[in-house]
Amino acid sequence: MAYLFLAIAFALSAVLSAVAYFVLITPYDPALLMLATLAACISLTAFCLSGVLERHRLLRKQLEQTNEQQGLLLAHNSSALMLLDKYLNVEFINTNHSSLGVIKANYSNDDSLLDIWTENVSEETRQQVHKAVDEKREWRGELRVGDKKKYRYLAATVTPILNDSGELAHVVVCAEDISEHKAIADRLFIREHYNVLTGLPNRQFALRAIQSTINDGDSSNSGFILIHIDLDRIRYINDSLGHQVVDKIFVETTERLRRSVRDDQILAHLGADEFLIVLSVGNCIDEAGILAETILDKCREPFYVNHHEVNISASLGLCKYPEDGDDSTVLMRRAEAAMFSAKEKGGDRFSFYEEGMSSETELRLEMEQHLRHAIERDEFKLHYQPVINLEDNKLRGVEVLLRWHNNVLGNPTPDRFIPVAEQSGLIIGIGKWVLEHACQQVMAWTRSGLPALSVAVNISAKQFTDGDIVENVRYALQQSGLPAAQLELEITEGLLINDTPEIRDTFKQLKTLGIHLSLDDFGTGYASLSYLKRYPFDSLKIDKSFVSDIDSCGDSVTLTNAIIAMGHSFNMKVIAEGVENLNQRRILREHHCDMVQGFLYSPPIPAEQFVAWAKRYAEMQTSQHV
Ligand code: C2E
Ligand code: CA
Ligand code: CA
Repeated sequence: MAYLFLAIAFALSAVLSAVAYFVLITPYDPALLMLATLAACISLTAFCLSGVLERHRLLRKQLEQTNEQQGLLLAHNSSALMLLDKYLNVEFINTNHSSLGVIKANYSNDDSLLDIWTENVSEETRQQVHKAVDEKREWRGELRVGDKKKYRYLAATVTPILNDSGELAHVVVCAEDISEHKAIADRLFIREHYNVLTGLPNRQFALRAIQSTINDGDSSNSGFILIHIDLDRIRYINDSLGHQVVDKIFVETTERLRRSVRDDQILAHLGADEFLIVLSVGNCIDEAGILAETILDKCREPFYVNHHEVNISASLGLCKYPEDGDDSTVLMRRAEAAMFSAKEKGGDRFSFYEEGMSSETELRLEMEQHLRHAIERDEFKLHYQPVINLEDNKLRGVEVLLRWHNNVLGNPTPDRFIPVAEQSGLIIGIGKWVLEHACQQVMAWTRSGLPALSVAVNISAKQFTDGDIVENVRYALQQSGLPAAQLELEITEGLLINDTPEIRDTFKQLKTLGIHLSLDDFGTGYASLSYLKRYPFDSLKIDKSFVSDIDSCGDSVTLTNAIIAMGHSFNMKVIAEGVENLNQRRILREHHCDMVQGFLYSPPIPAEQFVAWAKRYAEMQTSQHV
């Protein structure tokens, strides 16, 4: 159109120019002049009009461009954008994004979009959104949109837009699909709060759940009870059968526990062999006691794993809120302390928390602190238990057993402090100390006139794997002057489960030094016998649990007999430990056991007493000709 006006303007200008030409060369004619002026006015108007129209065209083009750009932005925006009127009806909605797909399934033009949006979110959130809009406030939050099967998570912002007089005119909703992020966050949450192996909530989760029950406050009237469950003998089963078997035991235990607790009670896997049950608010002590008995029964049932029948038991500790503590961490520690007390009484039982009980963790840490200084404070002492040759009844040697005199901790037994020394790595230094002092002692006895005795020293697996056992042995022999053939190292089956080239090499080097190697606690580890062939053991020690009922149980006799025969077939000497009476000694002798040790002869005794014992024993032998 603008061009048409421009053309008219040019045409009229041409007419004007022609008229002006004729005026100049022809005599004055007013009619012609008027015509020329009119043509000039029209052409000027046409010219101006064409300019206005061109400007308008450009503006419209610009607007179209902007609209197109905005449309593109809205269409390709990953956020859902909605414009609602003040009655919350949809005025505009962008498309092309995943979260909208869910909303659109439910969407009809008559619906209020906010209602569709909040259809599947909690009543609480729905009210929050409406309240914010009513109060002309912005609302930000998370929404779950969709039905039960198909839903997505949106991070939404609902902004009321006010007109000049401050009244609600529109509502802008902007929502971003955060389903993917939410899925990752959920997975991280699961990793952080659940045990990967059993799928049960972990310690972290349990702590939070207990604390939130306490914070809720409705528990303060009736209180609630915690039951800490710890499986007995797991460390031992791990050493002998390996962690895969232990893992299966944990999974099976979880199933058994699950069947024992109600849905409203928390069952958590605290880690390793520890579980926790939080009884619902209102459960009384008697109910907790009954549940504890049920759990003990369930744990006593045999576990069948990889063709093994494994028998374990559990130790349970119970504590009550609010009587035994008013915060989750304290309550957890108290339940553990009660469990520990049950374990100390022999396990397979439950205890209620009483004041003064300390948790395993606290005790272990305290023990570790004391152990660190035990050598420099001269708290260790070696005791010696005689080992007798059954063939001629002569004293053959001694087994060295470590004693720790620590009054603060009440002189813990090796069964208590050796595992702590092993876990903390302190066993490496302690083991070296034992080795050196034992060798020196036996040499001192030889020098003082006692016959040359062999000395058996207990060695922990950690000394083999983490310490320089070969160098330590070489040094102890060299420094004491003890002939290598008189030194014997006692090793348990646990070490051999991980059959590594390094361990084999260490065995070879030790044999090259000329010392003896003995397999300790034989028969308790269920482990395969194949390593008897592979490792150069000189002797095996039948565990005292076999010997203890050898005189009362026919089965143990048959088994002990088989072990002795097998040991001999591998060219090994067989030593029976824990011999307490003459009947046991007789049976062992009949089955050609080579050596014995036990309370029948002497408990482990300090070096000073040992010399007197050895002299008395030698005299008794000569006088009785036994
Ligand atoms: P172990 O090597 O099996 O030691 C034998 C245990 O049986 C000793 O317990 C000993 O006192 C006890 N015993 C000896 N004769 C009899 C008996 O006739 N009847 C009964 N019922 N028990 C008897 P202890 O001294 O408490 O040592 C326990 C465990 O601690 C030892 O078991 C050994 O594994 C470990 N241990 C002791 N000293 C050391 C050490 O210096 N280094 C390492 N690594 N471990 C040690
Ligand atoms: Ca031993
Ligand atoms: Ca033993």
